[in-house]
Amino acid sequence: MNSLSLQPDWLLTESGWRSHWQIDIRDGLIAGVGPARGGAQRLSGQALTPAFVNSHSHAFQRTIRGRTEFRHPDKPSDDFWSWRELMYRAAMRLNPDQLERVARLLYLEMAEAGITTVGEFHYQHHQPDGTRYANPDELALRLKAAADWAGIGLVLLRCAYGRSGFRVEPNPLQIRFLDGSWEEPCEALLRLQKAGLEVGMAPHSVRAVPLDWLPPLAAFARKHGLPLHMHVSEQVKEIEQCEAETGLRPVEYLAAQGILGPDFTAVHAIHLAENEVTALGSAHVCSCPTTERNLGDGIVPARLLRRAGTRFTFGTDSQCQIDPLEDARQLDYHLRLKEQQRAVLDDPPGTLESWLWDGLTVGGASSLMQPCGRLQVGLRADLLSFDLNHPTLVCDSENWLLAQLLWSAPRESITQVWRAGRPLLEGGRHPGREQAVESYRRVLAELEDG
Ligand SMILES: [Zn+2]
Repeated sequence: MNSLSLQPDWLLTESGWRSHWQIDIRDGLIAGVGPARGGAQRLSGQALTPAFVNSHSHAFQRTIRGRTEFRHPDKPSDDFWSWRELMYRAAMRLNPDQLERVARLLYLEMAEAGITTVGEFHYQHHQPDGTRYANPDELALRLKAAADWAGIGLVLLRCAYGRSGFRVEPNPLQIRFLDGSWEEPCEALLRLQKAGLEVGMAPHSVRAVPLDWLPPLAAFARKHGLPLHMHVSEQVKEIEQCEAETGLRPVEYLAAQGILGPDFTAVHAIHLAENEVTALGSAHVCSCPTTERNLGDGIVPARLLRRAGTRFTFGTDSQCQIDPLEDARQLDYHLRLKEQQRAVLDDPPGTLESWLWDGLTVGGASSLMQPCGRLQVGLRADLLSFDLNHPTLVCDSENWLLAQLLWSAPRESITQVWRAGRPLLEGGRHPGREQAVESYRRVLAELEDG
């Protein structure tokens, strides 16, 4: 039986910060949280919190970071749709080995940023000409191998992808993504579960899934008790297409089909009508503000969604930055700029930081159906410690500690990350860092040569 007890200066419990407290871990689970009894490993000058959950990631998009930040001289505007063409070209090129090496570096970055669970929204399924791999789940299994290597947990959100769009000609750059029928993703999920993966169902979007697939896909997820994730209302064009096809906006359509519910996560949910905000009150919204600002998607109406009762979670999505705290703070900062006010999401007053923190932890755990996110007996010991002697975090009272972490903590102030009680870092760095960096460099060189 593996056991470990930790006593930081400050422990973020269900009832707030506690000093002179310890947390006990046995066989990867939290076995006790209470006043210090002596004998615990002392984490001097550190604050200990639950680790972060990243609910939305596309691993392969790591390869285009920093490579799409320009306007094409021949195009009058550069937006999501022109970025998407560049992203698809990257998706076309990676072979399984390269994808695994890209994902290793990415998941290592996540571990160093305090993420211990990632929901990988996976739609790159086949060979570049669309033929199935000998093992049709080859690429999903490569992602799982990369997460295992980095030491973080992975929930494989297996995408269903059936078309380019309503009355849209097939795009040859999407051929690696396409399923032949709604049964194909269901069969893949059963195989992946059998192989020991944690999984979820992810119809890509109302654009990319033939609408008659949606009810059976959702029914499959519900029959098997799986999370149901979907890109929703990221772009205005997607809403126009949905209205043309169904006469309804995307969230209206999903509500009418009975797709929304506590097991559903709408990724993005930016362009919403009032009745759609209300309809999402029973669901999760996964917000990806660092990606959404990078792509010029728009601003999530988070205050209205919060009032409607929507549970929030965060995702790194396009991987332009791996910094969950930055995603959480941007959710409010975007609204501040729009409304020329401060602390827009502090509603009711005095709850802003704890609500954003919940989005980083319990919101993600709930969205991915994972037993983590709180320092509570019986949950997985996924933990994170911050260096309170870091120049950015010097603080005179625990009253301001959570706010300091949320608004100002840099990734470098994270000293240790535990996944199921197992420490992932040494001296604040993942021990595989050099190896992963070198291996990723070789992938980039191979892609240049290819
Ligand atoms: Zn996405």
